[in-house]
Amino acid sequence: MKGHVARKRFGQNFLIDQGIIGAIVSAINPARTDTVVEIGPGLGAITIPLLERVDRLHVVEIDRDLIARLKKQHTPERLSIHEGDALAFDFASIGSDLRLVGNLPYNISTPLLFHLASYGQQVRDMHFMLQKEVVERMVAEPGCADYGRLSVMLQYSFWLEWLIDVPPESFDPPPKVDSAVVRLIPKPPEQINARDPERLSALVQAAFAQRRKMLRNNLKGILDDAGFAALDIAPTLRPEDLPVEDYVRIANYLTN
Ligand code: SAM
Repeated sequence: MKGHVARKRFGQNFLIDQGIIGAIVSAINPARTDTVVEIGPGLGAITIPLLERVDRLHVVEIDRDLIARLKKQHTPERLSIHEGDALAFDFASIGSDLRLVGNLPYNISTPLLFHLASYGQQVRDMHFMLQKEVVERMVAEPGCADYGRLSVMLQYSFWLEWLIDVPPESFDPPPKVDSAVVRLIPKPPEQINARDPERLSALVQAAFAQRRKMLRNNLKGILDDAGFAALDIAPTLRPEDLPVEDYVRIANYLTN
């Protein structure tokens, strides 16, 4: 690995499969002037082929050793390095119409997806490598065991497309699990119709607090039987039975 010891705490599994790297870059298909932002460039597996396609690339990286290597290899005019934690990074500070990409550190992928869900207005699209199990949860439909808070909150804001399956041997060191590449495209503002997004987020969190319980129990103190009746939603349903639109309807009812 070119003299770098992979750090587990930063979720470092470096892509080494040129076929997969090529497929990711083709899926993004960047134009020279696109504002592409890579989260966690690492040793540059995706960074270098992206740099061949765009005039300037932004990267967000937390590991100081990797940042020092990147600084030696690339000029700031071509590679703009943002040092720090992607979980706390303000992506809007780079601009708008952003194209985000990353082989994401698995240990922070779920909180990072929730963080990025709030940047729909600044983002054109996102292409991420994630644990396959996380992608299954992202795209799950109501009634499935995988359908949960992540599915509702991401499907509310984005169209999701499962693109590529990636086996452990495509990485060094190989992770213990399978991976997949997924594309997220923000929905237009007129389709994002929760009047109070924070209320929707709090509602979904409460609804799935105990997924085997009925909605009536999980939403105690939030939505009473009269509210369920007004919305024509059975209080005996489980949280996984409710489609995204119904969560939005409940949130808007509570906002009124
Ligand atoms: N893109 C490289 C590749 O595909 O080989 C590296 C991918 S590796 C799975 C994850 C990368 O994210 C590492 O470079 C790691 O240092 C970086 N990283 C981990 N936690 C991070 C965080 N909180 N913010 C920004 N980068 C992070």
